[in-house]
Amino acid sequence: MNNNKKGFITRSLHASFPKDDAYNALHMPVYDGVAYEFDTAEEIAGTFSGKKFAHVYSRTSNPTVEYFEKKMLAVSDAHAAIALASGMAAISNVLLSLVEQGGNIVASNHLFGHSYALLKQTLPSLGIEVRFADMTDLSTVEVATDAKTRVYFFETITNPQLEIVDLKQLSALAKNKGVAVVCDSTITPPYVFQSKSFGVDVEVMSTTKFISGGAAAFGGIVLDNGTYDYSKLPALKEWADKYETNALVARIRKEIFRHLGGSMTAHTAHFMNLGLDIMPLRVERCVENCKQLASFFESHNKVVQYNYPGVVGNKGYELAQAQFDGKPGAVMTFDLESKEACYRFFNRLKLVRKATNLNDNKTLIIHPESTIYAEFSDFEKSAMGVRPTMMRLSVGIEDCEDLINDFNEALQ
Ligand SMILES: *Cc1c(COP(=O)(O)O)cnc(C)c1O
Repeated sequence: MNNNKKGFITRSLHASFPKDDAYNALHMPVYDGVAYEFDTAEEIAGTFSGKKFAHVYSRTSNPTVEYFEKKMLAVSDAHAAIALASGMAAISNVLLSLVEQGGNIVASNHLFGHSYALLKQTLPSLGIEVRFADMTDLSTVEVATDAKTRVYFFETITNPQLEIVDLKQLSALAKNKGVAVVCDSTITPPYVFQSKSFGVDVEVMSTTKFISGGAAAFGGIVLDNGTYDYSKLPALKEWADKYETNALVARIRKEIFRHLGGSMTAHTAHFMNLGLDIMPLRVERCVENCKQLASFFESHNKVVQYNYPGVVGNKGYELAQAQFDGKPGAVMTFDLESKEACYRFFNRLKLVRKATNLNDNKTLIIHPESTIYAEFSDFEKSAMGVRPTMMRLSVGIEDCEDLINDFNEALQ
């Protein structure tokens, strides 16, 4: 962390607008318009030729969205940022911009379901090869890498396994092989994780989760740390000649997302701008609740095991301390003696909400084996660490005593 910088919340709250507001509004207004007007032929021509920046059409750029990008730059060490319609839009746009037909991606075998499907179905159908590897065992990553490997793609903490990649080791391997390191850090946003200092080149996040402020709106962001030399990539060589370290964001904005239509709306950006300011307060509260719930699970005789990398004794504890400031998100899992016990417990809950999302302000619970992973075979489920006895929690910001009371009664 750069000590010359002010704190996260101060930087977010007081990020200046890209341009002075006509009415001196204290909040960045929601610029809901689609098109922007110019005074002269010279001005509009200058903008189209790229000599001078101005907003032209909101599918490509918008002032409220630009402000969100500016705030994300203010709270991270990133060099360039671009906001998109969803986390999936951010992930797909980055991968489509970095990898050419015939190139390949080495990806973690434990991924968010739709990311996995993108890599398994959609990208291969476009001629981009994907190889899955165990990112916690770098020898499998090394074996999968060849001269056409462009990207290592993984999540900072996998879900529901809660496995943590050793980023310094992975990025050392990537540097050695000339591969770009792209991580999905949805569960560990910039308040707890400074990706650049761990050798990550590009961060993608679903801002739907922690950043939106309680699952208020869909969104995604790409943060480019400016550390990768894009002239080495066939897909970005020409862009790098013109835009140098901004090549990735330039290609997304001027080609991929403009043509596929994946931009964030001004209304969504407004939610993100509000949510980001108070995200640290919510993250602290969630992590505190996770730790209290961990002690509750530890002492309860009906809980067979639980998993949260924020507590001493967990296999991910040391990496969670080193990489995520000891605040490894708000997802935890626990096991009861049988699937029947899980269903019975689930049906008896009164306060905790039964839903699949993550990082809502409300605590959410799901039985992954019978829902998110229902379409997988027993063998695949077991390979992914998805047990019939396991429940997944996304811990919210309620008063923890109320959560514990609800769990206690449902476990009776
Ligand atoms: C939710 C999620 C996504 C997808 O984000 P959307 O905003 O729903 O498109 C991607 N990665 C992770 C880790 C997620 O939790």
